[in-house]
Amino acid sequence: MGLLTVGTPLSWEDTKKYAEKIKKHGILQFINLYKNLKDRQRDTLKWGDEIEYTLIYIDHKNKSARLLLKCSDILHVLQEEENNNPGSNQNAWRMEYADYMVEGTPGQPFGGCLKQFNRVEASMRSRREELMRVLKENETVICFASFPRIGCPGFTEPILASSPALNPSSNSLYYPDRAIYPSHPRFKTLTKNIRSRRGSRPSINIPVFRDINTPEPYNQDIPNDDGEAKLAVLPNHVYMDCMGFGMGCCCLQVTFQACNIKEARMLYDQLTVLAPIMLALSAASPAFQGMLTDIDVRWGVISASVDDRTKEERGELPLKNDKFRIPKSRYSSVDMYISECSSHLNDIPVNYEEEHKQMLIDAGIDETLAIHIAHLFIRDPVSLFAEKINLNDEVDTDHFENIQSTNWQSVRFKPPPSNSKIGWRVEFRSMEVQLTDFENAAYVVFIVLLTRVILSYKLNFLLPISKVEENMKRAMKRDAVKKELFYFRNTTSYDASDEQVELTIDSIINGQDNGFPGLISLIRSYLDSIDVDIDVGCTIKQYLCFISRKASGNLQTMASYMRNYICSHPEYKKDSFIPEAIMYDLSVHLDKVSQGKIGCPSLFGNPSTKSLNVTPPNCVKVSEEVEELTKKILSVKRIN
Ligand code: ADP
Ligand code: MG
Ligand code: MG
Ligand code: MG
Ligand code: MG
Repeated sequence: MGLLTVGTPLSWEDTKKYAEKIKKHGILQFINLYKNLKDRQRDTLKWGDEIEYTLIYIDHKNKSARLLLKCSDILHVLQEEENNNPGSNQNAWRMEYADYMVEGTPGQPFGGCLKQFNRVEASMRSRREELMRVLKENETVICFASFPRIGCPGFTEPILASSPALNPSSNSLYYPDRAIYPSHPRFKTLTKNIRSRRGSRPSINIPVFRDINTPEPYNQDIPNDDGEAKLAVLPNHVYMDCMGFGMGCCCLQVTFQACNIKEARMLYDQLTVLAPIMLALSAASPAFQGMLTDIDVRWGVISASVDDRTKEERGELPLKNDKFRIPKSRYSSVDMYISECSSHLNDIPVNYEEEHKQMLIDAGIDETLAIHIAHLFIRDPVSLFAEKINLNDEVDTDHFENIQSTNWQSVRFKPPPSNSKIGWRVEFRSMEVQLTDFENAAYVVFIVLLTRVILSYKLNFLLPISKVEENMKRAMKRDAVKKELFYFRNTTSYDASDEQVELTIDSIINGQDNGFPGLISLIRSYLDSIDVDIDVGCTIKQYLCFISRKASGNLQTMASYMRNYICSHPEYKKDSFIPEAIMYDLSVHLDKVSQGKIGCPSLFGNPSTKSLNVTPPNCVKVSEEVEELTKKILSVKRIN
């Protein structure tokens, strides 16, 4: 989380008065940062993951599993070690949007040494254990990307009533304000101001998964409606009405430090192309509001849940009071590449204020980066504290961070914080959190290795940005891993002509005969070219094998696993509904799996491969032939 300053929060009406000023000063603050830090060189690779954990209360007596509102009670305990020994704490803990969530990261970032890959899963295990230690009986941690019964009556512990009158921040019919993290004003302020700016509650409509007994049409209950929900709800859709449905979902993020700004911009662009692929591959969100839906990922739900655009900006009314028609929510996929040499692939126009761009250009910033920053600044501040309006732009960066940290894009370009030892960084943000430490470690290590391969071999995955946008839409569909085709380049070199093909995720990850070699082969060639000791090599091999099998469909995504579990439960009536009893059984089951008490071969293979340094099962794909092919491609087309 970029900005967590405390103070007296302003309403949207008051924030609006300062919006232009905040934006101008935000840009000045970026300019000052840029001037001071643009020549920063030779930062080493540092990187770290962020896992968002969900606290669950398991009520054995009533056979119910609920979201446990407890983070505000336990956070200070979790943060004790960091407060007492900053710089040597093992884990670091941060508040999140909901009081049933908490974000855990390694206490210190991992470094560039290969041995670090043996520490990732151990770090995740240590975080899980630390969290479990502060919980009581019947309380547990389950890494749900989205909790299937979120928004159902009584979905929290303690059980709370919900209605617009009871929820001054969100006005939600379903999601009690008390589920929002209570001990910091940021989250409630964002909730309220996003709604006020938009002029109504967010409206999130997700198609229902149609089963043989699903009501036709299905019309969701809209209890205590003040008239607004009736206008927003669509038939045959799950309807959700506030920020919590989206920001209350959990993701898996990875941040990398680049050696300089140029490398960070290049990495940002390449990772932009990989974001939709990894979203589809990590799908873990098949249900919302107690119903199976026709999607598998959280992305579209969060995007709609913080969509603060007005009717004019959304194109529902002609422009009169607002400046722009804005195509997407402020939570959305990357709009443009930011390296100068990638700018010809920015084939979707972006909005920005000419004046903002000119300020940046006049400060000596190139046009591509100037447009990127200016385009972030079409968004208004939606959380502002009275004490933090007048700042010193030479040293403060709060106004820049204010806008930057509420542009929730699939990849984020993070400038160094002022007065820190930290360099230019890039954050990969699209992945859904996985159930177990093993799975989360595998996804994280896979992405870290990919960045090493991209940089070492100067690989180029860039497509026209419009194709990445299309890939993002496809990634959000149910079972995208198995059913969708994604635009991808069939060569990884810069000098080849821009050849695009449509590939399955299996082909992208595992390669095709006589075609794209596959990301795993590229990683393997890279690993062959460096000295990896057996210990680390074995760990990495297990992760790559796991990713390979996820991509081939040999292992299920968490989304299809949960969907199948629900659909084959004896109490499921084939009507798309997920009653409490199923939610309870599912949670008890997933709890055991995530504690390592039982295996789950269809999710991550043979449980005996979960521990480090155990020989992994054979991969289903990645033939030696393909590896040979890759080596050839790399040696022929490597550019220096
Ligand atoms: P966010 O703003 O995305 O919430 P966090 O402060 O939670 O960012 O950190 C994201 C990750 O970045 C953490 O895993 C942390 O360990 C890691 N990290 C910390 N310092 C660096 C650095 N210098 N370079 C790269 N990653 C870092
Ligand atoms: Mg983050
Ligand atoms: Mg964080
Ligand atoms: Mg966050
Ligand atoms: Mg987070």
